[in-house]
Amino acid sequence: MPIYNAPTKDIQFVLHDLLRVSEQDIPGFEDLDREFTGAVVEEAGKVATEVLHPLNVVGDKEGCVLENGVVRTPKGFKDAFEQMKTGGWTSMDCDPEYGGQGLPYVMYTAAQEPFVSSNMAFNMYQGLTHGAYSAIHAHGTDAQKQKFLPKMVECEWTGTMNLTEPHCGTDLGLMRTKAAPQEDGSYKITGQKIFISAGEHDLSDNIIHLVLAKIEGGPEGIKGVSLFIVPKFIVNDDGSLGARNGVSVGSIEEKMGIHGNSTCVMNYDEATGYLLGSEHKGMRAMFTMMNEARLGVGLQGFAQAESAYQNAVAYANDRLQGRAVTGAENPNGPADPLIVHPDIRRNLMDQKSFVEGARAFTYWGAYLIDRAHRNDDKDADGLISLMTPVLKGFLTDKGFEYATAAQQVYGGHGYIEEWGMSQYARDARIAMIYEGANGVQALDLVGRKLAQDGGKHVMAFFDMVKTFIKENEDNEALKTDFLDPLKAASKDLQAAGMYFMQNGMKNPNNALSGSYDFMHMMGHVCLGLMWARMAKAAMEALEGGASDTAFYETKIATGRYYMARQLPATAMHLARINTGADTVMALDAANF
Ligand SMILES: Cc1cc2nc3c(=O)[nH]c(=O)nc-3n(C[C@H](O)[C@H](O)[C@H](O)COP(=O)(O)OP(=O)(O)OC[C@H]3O[C@@H](n4cnc5c(N)ncnc54)[C@H](O)[C@@H]3O)c2cc1C
Repeated sequence: MPIYNAPTKDIQFVLHDLLRVSEQDIPGFEDLDREFTGAVVEEAGKVATEVLHPLNVVGDKEGCVLENGVVRTPKGFKDAFEQMKTGGWTSMDCDPEYGGQGLPYVMYTAAQEPFVSSNMAFNMYQGLTHGAYSAIHAHGTDAQKQKFLPKMVECEWTGTMNLTEPHCGTDLGLMRTKAAPQEDGSYKITGQKIFISAGEHDLSDNIIHLVLAKIEGGPEGIKGVSLFIVPKFIVNDDGSLGARNGVSVGSIEEKMGIHGNSTCVMNYDEATGYLLGSEHKGMRAMFTMMNEARLGVGLQGFAQAESAYQNAVAYANDRLQGRAVTGAENPNGPADPLIVHPDIRRNLMDQKSFVEGARAFTYWGAYLIDRAHRNDDKDADGLISLMTPVLKGFLTDKGFEYATAAQQVYGGHGYIEEWGMSQYARDARIAMIYEGANGVQALDLVGRKLAQDGGKHVMAFFDMVKTFIKENEDNEALKTDFLDPLKAASKDLQAAGMYFMQNGMKNPNNALSGSYDFMHMMGHVCLGLMWARMAKAAMEALEGGASDTAFYETKIATGRYYMARQLPATAMHLARINTGADTVMALDAANF
């Protein structure tokens, strides 16, 4: 059985040493002192290790079962879901007006990490509900909010997001699901949606589906898409549950991973739906909560890598194979543990330096969301909008890469189900696909976000990096190992942006052939920035007399590794971008 221990100390380090949350001038942040966040994170970690982690393998092995139109979740999920509800974990950052606790999003994110690391499939039931809650909260009428939100905050009713259809996933303009207006102001929704996460299950009394559909007679394509609330059971005016609505599960998908989450084909047969937001503005309503949803998927990426890493470290210390080339380190044993070998070290350092950098990047993203929402800070809003495809695309690509790297530490045992390492890789894989496949994230970054508001946000990002370097250039301890590599990587990124400006206009393929490289480059620069800041914070803690010197010294050494061994990837990405579209587009389709 795999292990999992919540990295509470690392989480606290990011919240306090790096982001200094309790010192921020953001409403609600004044309560986030070390003691409070420590208690929350410790408790979340306890729930994760004691309740959710033991169910991870159960969920993977049992999966969900469809019987007589009802989906049964794996044994133990129902009890665990009740514990999440009674523990108040579902309502942390929700609006107090609807029963939420009103905590900042960054605090919610810090609690989410152990939940996702310990059982990603399970946590998705709540995660999807949170997404649907946010959409209704942002776009619902008062009556809709009063009717649906309190139960969703408690997860008495769960939520889903229904975009995908058999013939359309990325290109939602092709959507066929129809909405027919009724005299009472409601709509009849008819069509089929596929791959709907948590579409049907036995964890809640009602399921509130958010469904994209086209109102008959509306504009063609994406401009004719509207968003609807379609409850599994109609909700009466007094809040009680009424008749069963015309929505049913057709089947559940057999899939590579996240077996504990039911991925459903949903059939809508003249189901009663209520317009959410304005007619034909469905995509806009969906996009409101995209930053949060995509940050949540990015978190899935590194959270799976974190779990896989913890196991790889334990195995590397335990497994005896070969001798250290510099002399036996376990002379009384038959061989040395794997961890003595430089190539195993390289692998583990890759994983560790990614995961810790990714945690900082994700929590910084959550903090920007808080600044945007709670301070109405337009710059923070622009910055998180720019970062969103990077958070999603880079962290999930790398999360999967390092989940398989952790498998590699186990040799053949990593490939055998008994050890549990394949589940991390299989579960992490989906995060690269859903919530907008990663190729489409790169497209969004280069095709849309770079130029958003006249390129203001990307310029602000470059300024931020430049300012940090300038402000710290006299800091000898930081300069060679952190600031110089960051400067070089940031220069590469700017050169790539310049290449797009000069060559993308002539031929857009020149920009789009390099978009994936650019997304990875930007991910590296963001993690490089995070590591430089974390190193500075760790040095300050040591200078301030922190007692846990090993912890802070380890942070600095891990950061040095990232800057030396990972960040130079930007040069390779730039070289590829600079070759443009010629080699990418050289073949006729028939020659593939
Ligand atoms: C387990 C699971 C759970 C899911 N949960 C949900 C859910 O809850 N709700 C929901 O609505 N959907 C859900 N999905 C669907 C998921 O979001 C889609 O699969 C995803 O958005 C991609 O759509 P598609 O599969 O139709 O691929 P396509 O759109 O056909 O894309 C195929 C490939 O082509 C690339 N591509 C497409 N267009 C372009 C372009 N213009 N330029 C460059 N590349 C392009 C994509 O990046 C992708 O790699 C889920 C899927 C799975 C497998």
